[in-house]
Parts: sequence; C-alpha cells; structure tokens
Amino acid sequence: MESIRIGNGYDVHALAEGLPLWLGGVRIESPLGCIAHSDGDVPIHALCDALLGALALGDIGKHFPDTSAEFKGIDSKVLLQKTMSLVSEAGYRVGNADITIALQRPKLAPYITAMRETLAAIMGADITGVSVKATTTEKLGFVGRCEGCEAYATVLLFRKNMP
Ligand code: MG
Repeated sequence: MESIRIGNGYDVHALAEGLPLWLGGVRIESPLGCIAHSDGDVPIHALCDALLGALALGDIGKHFPDTSAEFKGIDSKVLLQKTMSLVSEAGYRVGNADITIALQRPKLAPYITAMRETLAAIMGADITGVSVKATTTEKLGFVGRCEGCEAYATVLLFRKNMP
C-alpha cells in the first residue's frame, strides 16, 4: 500500500434535552445531548470514519454496529482506540487530523484545547497535528435549529517505516 493515505469522515446525531453531550472525548455543559446507541460523540465518529476511510476498511457502522449490545452506551474514546489499533496493524500512523464541529450552541471555544489533547493522546499524535474547529450554521438548517450536531474530519496517515 502507498506511503501516504488520506481519509474523510462525516457524522450527525440528533439532540434531545436531558442527555449528556460528549464532543471530542470531552463532556460539554449543555441542556441538550446526542441521541445515540453509543455516547453520541459526533466528532469522534467522524474521525473514526476518516481513519477507516484512509485505509479503505469500511466504516464505523461495519466495525462497531449500533445493533450490538457490546457497543450500547460505549464511550466513543474506546471506539477511537479500537480504530487506531486497526490503523497501527496496517502499519500506519496519524500525520495530522482536522475536525470541524457544527453546533449552534453552546460555544465550544472553552473546550477545544481539551478535545485536541484528548484526541492526540488516543491517536499517539502530537497536539500540533490535531486540529478541532467549531462553527455554528448561523441558525440555518437542523444544526441552526438546535435539532442536531454534525462533524467533518480529514486525516492523513503515513507509513511507520517511511524513510
Ligand atoms: Mg455516530
């Protein structure tokens, strides 16, 4: 396989009152949380899909089916760890990752550094190679109506033994 691989991922979850909101492995103070089989961590799910996509290994639903009791309520950081095991087994490391989260509120700026640290630690990457960005959608669409949260992720992988 090639020395360098690129992948992209996308995820969305609906929001509902009274559920915990986990984004990028960090608990966010919010009256709304994601409806999900797992903990509903949208950016981690997008990131897992980007990692799997880079190696053409299918998607998160194939590896961690939402019909499986094993993954009910699971911490998405565990899904990212399992995904990274597949990346490592294939002989690759993360070069860098770039994630965009679309959420109308709350503002995510206070949480960005914690998300980058958390994700970098799990991926065995330097924090300078892990970008997390946040945007609203200017009150447009399902994100703007606070009905859901979405995230996009792009990753670059390289071979561990690359000269
Ligand atoms: Mg998901």
